[in-house]
Amino acid sequence: MFALAPAQLTARLLAWYDAGHRDLPWRPAAGERGDPYRVWLSEVMLQQTTVAAVLPYYRAFLARWPTVEALAAADDAEAMAAWAGLGYYSRARNLLACARAVAARGGFPRTEAELRRLPGLGPYTAAAVAAIAFGEAVAAVDGNVERVLARLTDDATPLPAFKAKARALAQALAPADRPGDFVQASIDLGATVCRPRNPDCLLCPWRDACRARVAGTAEARPVRPEKKGRPHRLGTVYWVWSDRGVWLVRRPEKGLLGGMLALPTGEWRVGEVRPRLEGAWAGITLNRSVAHVFTHFSLDLAVVRVHIPHGTPEAEVAAGFGEGFWGGAADLDGMPSVMQKARKLVEETR
Ligand code: SF4
Repeated sequence: MFALAPAQLTARLLAWYDAGHRDLPWRPAAGERGDPYRVWLSEVMLQQTTVAAVLPYYRAFLARWPTVEALAAADDAEAMAAWAGLGYYSRARNLLACARAVAARGGFPRTEAELRRLPGLGPYTAAAVAAIAFGEAVAAVDGNVERVLARLTDDATPLPAFKAKARALAQALAPADRPGDFVQASIDLGATVCRPRNPDCLLCPWRDACRARVAGTAEARPVRPEKKGRPHRLGTVYWVWSDRGVWLVRRPEKGLLGGMLALPTGEWRVGEVRPRLEGAWAGITLNRSVAHVFTHFSLDLAVVRVHIPHGTPEAEVAAGFGEGFWGGAADLDGMPSVMQKARKLVEETR
C-alpha cells in the first residue's frame, strides 16, 4: 500500500505536472477537457509506439481526416497507406472500424463503460478517453503507470498478476476534479522520470513516499515473468518487376500486416524455407536478407528479384505470385516497414 495518503500523492503529482509537462499536440491545457477524436487517435497511435514516432503520423492524419466523421468516410486503402510504417497494423483496421461505429452513433460515448464497447478500444484507451475528454474519474493504466505504481508501493507481485493491483492503486489516486490531468501526469512520470532503467528519483514528486526507492529495489519493479524466447522464422519475399512496375498484392484482411499493400511472399515459418519460384521465370536471390522483428517472432527474409518479360499477361503473373497489380513509387511508399526493408535492399543492389 501507499506510504502517504492517496490525496497527498495525487496533489504532489498534479503540482509536478502543472510545473512543466510535455507539450503534446493532442493534449488540452491543464484543467481543460480534450477533444475526444484527438485523444482517441493519439492514444491508439501511441500503443507500443514512441511519441517521436507518432507525432508526424498524428499530424498527417489530423490534416487529412480532421474529424472522426471524415475518418469514418476514409477509403480503407488510403488509411492503411497513411498508417504504413507505424506498425501493428491491426490498430489501423480497428481505427477505421471504431471511427465508423462512432460516426454511426453520432459521436463518442462519454463513459469508460460505453467506450469499451467500441471496436478496438481496450481498457487503457477507453479510460484515457473517458478521463481526458469527458472528465470521468477513472484511472488509465498502461505499462508505464504499472511500473511507477509497483515502485511506489514496492510490490513484488509479478506481472501479469500485478496489473489488477495497479488498476486498484491508480483508481485510489484518481481525483474527481482533474482525472484527465492525473492520467497524463502519471503517464509523463513513467515516461520521463520513472523510466525502466535509471529512474530519475531526484526529480520525482513521489521520491520520499516511494518504497522501492527507499528499499533500493526500483529497477527490480515490476517483477516480470520469465521471458520465453521469440521464435525465429524464415521466408522469402519477391521483387517481381517489369516495364510496368513492381507486382504488389494486398495481404488478407485477417492476420499479420492484414489489409496492407505488400510484395508477394512465400510462407514464413520456423526452419529452412527455400525460395520457391512459381511460374517459368528465373529469379535472382540477393546475397543479403531482410531481418525484421515482430512482436511474436523475428524474421529473416530472403529477397528474390524476378524480371517479368514485356507483354506477359497479368493473369500469368497473378497465377505465380498472387492476385495483384503493377504498382508505382506511390504504391510502394504505402507498404509496411518490413517490405520497405526489402525494397531498400533491392534498390541498393541494382
Ligand atoms: Fe520511480 Fe524513483 Fe519516483 Fe520511485 S522515486 S516512483 S522509483 S522515479
